This record gives sequence, C-alpha cells and structure tokens, in this order.
Amino acid sequence: MAVDMNVFRGFAEQIGSLPQMAQPTDCPDGERVSRAKAVFAAKLDSAKATHLESCIHCGLCAEACQFYLQTKDPELTPIHKLDLLKRYYRREKAPLRFFHRFFEADISEADLEATQFLVYESCTECGRCGLVCPMGIDIASMVNVTRQGLAEAGLIPAGLRAVEQEQGGRGTVFGVGPEQLRAAIDDLRGRGYDVPIDKPKADILVLTSTIDILLFKDALEATVKVMNHLGVDWTLHSCAFEGANFGLLSGYEQVQKSASERITTQAIALGAKLVIVPECGHAYPALRWEGANEHGGALPFEVMAISEFLGNEIAAGRLQVEPIGRDKHVTYHDPCKVGRHGGVFREPRVVLDALGVDLDEMPCNQATNFCCGGGAGLFVMERAEPMRNAAFDLKREQVESTRADTVVTACGSCRVNLLAGAMRTEWDRGVESLVELVGNNLKQR
Ligand code: SF4
Ligand code: SF4
Repeated sequence: MAVDMNVFRGFAEQIGSLPQMAQPTDCPDGERVSRAKAVFAAKLDSAKATHLESCIHCGLCAEACQFYLQTKDPELTPIHKLDLLKRYYRREKAPLRFFHRFFEADISEADLEATQFLVYESCTECGRCGLVCPMGIDIASMVNVTRQGLAEAGLIPAGLRAVEQEQGGRGTVFGVGPEQLRAAIDDLRGRGYDVPIDKPKADILVLTSTIDILLFKDALEATVKVMNHLGVDWTLHSCAFEGANFGLLSGYEQVQKSASERITTQAIALGAKLVIVPECGHAYPALRWEGANEHGGALPFEVMAISEFLGNEIAAGRLQVEPIGRDKHVTYHDPCKVGRHGGVFREPRVVLDALGVDLDEMPCNQATNFCCGGGAGLFVMERAEPMRNAAFDLKREQVESTRADTVVTACGSCRVNLLAGAMRTEWDRGVESLVELVGNNLKQR
C-alpha cells in the first residue's frame, strides 16, 4: 500500500528539526583528542593493524563507492576516510612508530572535526568498497571505529546525536516508547487483529521499529498478519521492541550496548528460540553480531531479518501466498546491512518468486547492489543531504535500467531515502515493503 505522503512529509520535517534538539556534549575541547585516541588504542587490534598496513593504492575502492562515483571528489576515496585512524596507528602502534613521528603530525582537534564529514556524512558503511578491495581491507568496519573515536570526543553530527541522546536517555526513538507501541497495537486490535504483547514466555520475540510505528504502519500490520497466519507462539514486548540502534550508528558504544542488551535480556527471559528483526537494515548487525559481542558469545537464540524469515517459511512450505501475477514489475533493493553484510540474498527472492511477480534485477544487485544513500544514520544528518541525493540519483539510474515500476525493499531507512528522492525528483516509481507484499497476499485457508 502506498505511504501517505502527507504523513511522510511530517516525518521528514521532524527529522529536519533534530539538530535543534541535540544537547551539547560533555566533552571539553581540551579532551577531545585524548578521548578519541583512547578509543583508537582500545579498538586497533592486530587484524585492523594488518588492514591499515595493506593498501596497495590501486584505487578500486573509489570506483565501488557511490559517493566517489557521483562526485569524483578524491577526498571521498574510501581508503582516505581512514587517514585519521592510520595516522594514529603509525604514530602510536606501528613497528616503525618512532620513525613515523618525525614525518607525521600528531592528531589535532581540527583533524577530528575534518574527519566528521568523511566518516559520518559521506559513508554509509555499506561495505561495497571492501568487496572489491584486492587486499580485503574492511574499510566500513574501520570507518565505524573512527566514528566511535569521534563519538567519544563529542563529535557526533547534531541530528544523529539528538536521536542517540534520546535513545540513551529516555530509551525512546523519535518519541516512540511503550505507550506509542501500545497505541499502535490498540489500533490493530480495533481492526480485528490478535496482537500478543508482554507474554511471559514465547518461542519468538518479534521486534519492530519507530519508523514502522510512526510511518510504515502497514509493515507492522503485515508482520502481525504473517505471524498469526503461521500460528506460531510469538509476542511483542514493551520492554524490548525497538530494533533500531542509534548507538551503533553514532558510534557511541554505551548506547549501542544498552540497546542490544535490552533485547537480549528480554529474549532470554522469554525463553525465545528466535528473535525476528523488522525491516530495519542496521537492526540486524546490531543484534546478530554486536549483540553477541556484548553477550560474550553466541546468543542463545537465533536472529533473523524478517525478509530472511519470510523466505525460509515459504521455502519450507509453512507460509503460502497468493500469486500477484507477472504484470507487477518489480526490482529488489538489497539493504546493505542485511544483504552484503548478512548474506541474505536468496530469501527475499524466494518470496518474490512465490508472489509470482516479474522481478527484473538492477545491473548491480545482491552483493554489488548500491546503497540507497540513507544508511548508517545518513537519513538523520542534515549535512548529508547532498550525499543522500547523489546516491539516490545513482540508484534511480539503476532502477530505470530495468522494466520495474516498483522498487521492493526490506528496510525502513532505505524506503525513507528512496521516497525522499522520489518526492524531490517527482519520480514515478513506487517503493514498497517486502513484508507488506506478503501480508497483503496471504493464501486464504
Ligand atoms: S562503506 Fe560504502 S559509502 Fe563507505 S566508503 Fe565504502 S563504498 Fe563508500
Ligand atoms: S581497493 Fe584496497 S588496496 Fe586498493 S586503494 Fe582501496 S583500500 Fe587500497
């Protein structure tokens, strides 16, 4: 179902006002450098040091990055985004550090501030650069380490900082807490749905996200329809429903850990065997890998993105859908964190195949798919708008080279950026959610 564009505009305005809501940080100017260095010191292990030593300056990563491709700005070459981290490494940790100190200046506050744009507003941590690097350098993960250093130095961009502070302080995101979740559930119950919440025990804990409560309500409704259709033992939980993790996006580890732990603790208390992550790209790594790190080992439950769950259930014959038909022409946009990082490529295509739609893939699809441009929190960073627009324009070209009139995806942030681009450029292609397509076409029993 199409999103109400008036609601979407209201949401976009709310995002636009975030910088004014950001509180000043508690980091005095004189401490910024030492705080950032302390994080770099803690995070730079031998694997990362090897990555920082390995670049052969071939330039292939530049040709993989949507921001470089769209701007041709050499400053936006992916490996260049690690210059600050590399300088720290050379001066403080490298075997030849005493030699490097003669030639390379120490990190300054101005360097930290200059790096803000490179690692926040012009990198979505999409991982496409690492995919093509012949040396296997994982640039995206080290961009995140640099974000962690800047976060500790009080240099998270204002819009992103406002949301991180809200999630870290009140535990809400965009003002959505248990009360708003209950209101959304009451609305669904009023329309005849059985929506379990706060069950003491359940096999499956289903997460949702602020975006699905405020904006893409049909995605939450569709998830409820699917779970009830399957007849499984599931629940939402008012203490652990938010999949989005603005600690991970901002680099502020304390918030990232508490947001992950909240879910892990609740899932264990429920005795859940599975936690389903909603259509929110970064929610997947935030729980599946970062959550496991915080837990100190393998999680005692499985974590699946909703797109993965749907594909698996259809493939196993437990979930049946009515074919929509091949006169619906779609292409599929793989959210980077679920696809390239998580390897979930087959499952959404199993779903689209079962729905019988005409799937025409973009030239760059699955592992080589281009990011929508809004990932890693760019959609809430005011200064990132030119980058988001540039990435959208590239994505638009990719979509227009197919016969699709609809882009299907399984990430709310991707939908936000694609819809914002469509609104800005008066683009006529639709943007739809995978779970909504399933929820609206379940086989009647
Ligand atoms: S992770 Fe993505 S956005 Fe960031 S530098 Fe690499 S290709 Fe560019
Ligand atoms: S692709 Fe890898 S080796 Fe080549 S310039 Fe980029 S980071 Fe260096």
